[in-house]
Amino acid sequence: MGYTDPHCAESRPVAGPSGSRTTRGASRTRLANLHRGCVKVDGNGVRTSTQGSFSGTMVSAMSSSTTARAYWKPEEETLARPALEALQLERLKRTVARVCESVPLYRKKFEQAKVTPGDIRTLADLRRLPFTTGADLRESYPAGMLAVPLDDTLRLHTSSGTTGKPKALFFSRQDVDNAAELIARSFVAAGMTKRDIFQNMMTYGLFTGALVTHYGAEKIGCLVIPAGPGNSDRQLLLMQDFHTTSIHLTPSFALYFADVLEKRSIDPRKDLSLKRAFVGAEPHSEETRRKIEDALGLRVFNSYGLSEMNGPGVAFECQEQAGMHLWEDHYIMEIIDPESGEALPPGERGELVLTTLVREAMPILRYRTRDITSIVDAPCACGRTHRRIQRITGRADDMLIVRGVNIYPQQIERILMGVPKLGRNYVIVLEGFDEMTVKVELSEAGFDDQLEHVMALQNEIVGLLRAEILTKPNVDLVPPGTLPVSEGKAKRVIDNRKL
Ligand code: AMP
Ligand code: ZN
Repeated sequence: MGYTDPHCAESRPVAGPSGSRTTRGASRTRLANLHRGCVKVDGNGVRTSTQGSFSGTMVSAMSSSTTARAYWKPEEETLARPALEALQLERLKRTVARVCESVPLYRKKFEQAKVTPGDIRTLADLRRLPFTTGADLRESYPAGMLAVPLDDTLRLHTSSGTTGKPKALFFSRQDVDNAAELIARSFVAAGMTKRDIFQNMMTYGLFTGALVTHYGAEKIGCLVIPAGPGNSDRQLLLMQDFHTTSIHLTPSFALYFADVLEKRSIDPRKDLSLKRAFVGAEPHSEETRRKIEDALGLRVFNSYGLSEMNGPGVAFECQEQAGMHLWEDHYIMEIIDPESGEALPPGERGELVLTTLVREAMPILRYRTRDITSIVDAPCACGRTHRRIQRITGRADDMLIVRGVNIYPQQIERILMGVPKLGRNYVIVLEGFDEMTVKVELSEAGFDDQLEHVMALQNEIVGLLRAEILTKPNVDLVPPGTLPVSEGKAKRVIDNRKL
């Protein structure tokens, strides 16, 4: 049976000068010449195209509903659970044997834990292996955890940690390709096709966020615009002139960018061609997702990853937007109690622990991500068999203790983003002896010079926050656009306490 890319009938919108959109099909322009034709894939995975050559296989099938269901590699994404688990076990055994042989840190850890590669006979035996922590990576800096000769590495990234030594992450050629494969798989799961125009608004450089997704989008065959972050006016110009359909950015920059559009009187639904945003690198709530979707007139897909595990493409939302598929042929996930280290069953919230299964240059076993989530065991309507994780609600080390109460900044964000009169930027300031102030911008619509209106809103927010976090914060409502904006990950908590 042959499958056809359902998007073949469409061609990319074609650029005119900023603001003046030329309609589809004007193949005279330069952009249209970049158009690469349609791809057909037969049952044996043989690809044919009407023109040009293709690096990937995008296969679509019609689901029982009328929507086309697209996969990048259906055989990998819909592998039956027993086969997927058998593959995990085979890859785990190979990884454990390799690190024991080539990474002194693991040899020492195995000796201390009195475990040998031969002890790994089932997936449950994973729990016999020691954890790897961020401190292990820092102490092995720069190259102590390499499992291949330096000559066989192709790329270096570092983690975006702000304190102490960074974590250095090496990629082999195969690792670079695998990371791009997982992005292609993830982007297609969110509805992207080679017809899309992808504006990458993440930071290029040592941070994995932009480069890894860049290569993945190129694998699909999209036109990639490596815009990087910041400079909202240039971003907007690119979006208008090249009819960007998909963007990748942090949630905080998405919220800021929405403000910029409002100020410039741009209606994204009429004036832009945006269809979807891939949003990640920072915890954000469902309320924030909705706020971004409303303001930018697109669908937001949650994208999870960390440099220690190749960066983005570890877990990604499909079109169902109901949790992120964690790609289990590349990673084994566990959820543990962050205090005791004991395993928690599916559905329970705890710290995500990840083991790489195909990483060549720097395999990592049972990595304590510090990210808090839970496993969704139920099958997904999209047909992918890889289990999902819930939205990350914060990091184990993000937890604030204020007047003896445990608070995650995410709880505060969820409340603020649910109040229409509030804007999109906020910061939590801790000072003195446990004094907490939530500074939040008003929205343009909520900005009011009547003092009693502002006081009433302020009291309302204090009440909502107190009900959520069980302690009474101060609330400072500030005019739109007055809080600092960061280009990379937003700094939402400023802790100046003298405790
Ligand atoms: P980095 O290694 O610099 O890419 O940072 C990775 C960290 O960013 C993760 O461990 C998470 O704490 C956070 N992160 C990445 N993606 C998301 C996401 N979609 N939701 C929440 N936090 C995220
Ligand atoms: Zn799904």
